[in-house]
Amino acid sequence: MQAMADHALERAWEVLESVPDPEIPVVSIRELGILRDVRRAADGQLEVVITPTYSGCPAMSQIAEDVAHALDSAELAPYRIATTLTPAWTTDWITDEAREKLRAYGIAPPTGNCGGSAGHYAAEQPITFIPKLPAPACPHCGSQHTERLAQFGSTACKALYRCLDCREPFDYFKPY
Ligand SMILES: [Zn+2]
Repeated sequence: MQAMADHALERAWEVLESVPDPEIPVVSIRELGILRDVRRAADGQLEVVITPTYSGCPAMSQIAEDVAHALDSAELAPYRIATTLTPAWTTDWITDEAREKLRAYGIAPPTGNCGGSAGHYAAEQPITFIPKLPAPACPHCGSQHTERLAQFGSTACKALYRCLDCREPFDYFKPY
């Protein structure tokens, strides 16, 4: 147990809380569950742990750059950024607050949890599309009458849907 408060650590949490997701700037990487930990490594160095969302999401290097920039700006160097693959990221980690922000931004947040018990530890498995998901509600009007137009939306993490009531297309953040 550490008796003294670690101000650098607290400050690092503070600045990283506000680092936005590069693809969905209304939510932070903490709210999406990408920021896993800010801690002292065994050698005493400040260590930030981030986890990739969907495999192949090109945003990961951008996120590492943004984290580095935030820490540099707060003069918290030296530090190191570690990525972890276990436990594998899941949309279950997205906070309720962030789900609301996604909806307000026009992206339907993931519904339910990822299908299949292997979901949480699927880092080494290929991503397969799960066809039996309930249709996401329209983020514009709340209608459940939506149809999938494409498996991939503006990024591989999202699917493109259209509302059958208000006719608006929207991105759906796929559960994973
Ligand atoms: Zn609608």
